[in-house]
Amino acid sequence: MKFVAKVHIISVTSKLFRFFFISLALPKVLSFGKPQINLVFRLLIRTFAAKLIIMEIKKAEFTLSAPMVSMCPKDTKPEYAFIGRSNVGKSSLINMLTNNKKLAKTSATPGKTLLINHFIINNEWYLVDLPGYGFAKRSKKEVAKLEQMIQGYILQREQLVNLFVLVDVRLEAQKIDLEFIEWLGQSSVPFAIVFTKADKLSATKVTQNVEAYKKVLLETWEELPPIFITSAEKKQGRDEVLDYIEDINKTLVSNQ
Ligand code: GDP
Repeated sequence: MKFVAKVHIISVTSKLFRFFFISLALPKVLSFGKPQINLVFRLLIRTFAAKLIIMEIKKAEFTLSAPMVSMCPKDTKPEYAFIGRSNVGKSSLINMLTNNKKLAKTSATPGKTLLINHFIINNEWYLVDLPGYGFAKRSKKEVAKLEQMIQGYILQREQLVNLFVLVDVRLEAQKIDLEFIEWLGQSSVPFAIVFTKADKLSATKVTQNVEAYKKVLLETWEELPPIFITSAEKKQGRDEVLDYIEDINKTLVSNQ
């Protein structure tokens, strides 16, 4: 299977060029060859450049909760959805990304979000909180209804440009996640994998687990999807995920 990068032609070179130009070349030009001034300039401008490059969340507002795809917002803005097994840390991640502790409900009760929740970010794009899958303690009928809702959204929502699949970094690759990922591949849905709760392990163990996960994926996939390592607790991975979204948004605007 091949990872589908439908709209994701990321402008890495232009980004690197911008970063190096702003943080290296510009201070040199402005300091007229004086090394001390150059160093101060470089530090100041590097901080400024990082801010320029990484997306700022200026506004994050709840829009609506929909029980089915046909009731989602009538809007054409790009959507980035988040999904994972109950308790994977989805609400915490959404709150961390948006810098808003109350945006998505964080709770220890698994599977509480049972609707498709839309949040409008910076009036530019939607963050979509999908119900968690792997619903323990639910009736067959309820599970079928939720699966239908999730599948309907993922397959029919044209505005969906990327699905973030959340995986707890502490666990071995779970059958239910691998099956879901395989289904995404078969359905040509662009996705990225987000490992959560990285603060719960040592950095070495995180790397080992992620490498082991990649190995499992490569048994079925020719290429790996984009992978992010995050911790809501330590705000790790925030810039990387937002940067990725920003890149896709820019590609979409320039393709219009
Ligand atoms: P959801 O059911 O997927 O929305 O998961 P929640 O965001 O409600 O998180 C489930 C539990 O994991 C809660 O007790 C969170 O406090 C905890 N949790 C989530 N993310 C992190 C993280 O990055 N680090 C740590 N240490 N705990 C986390």
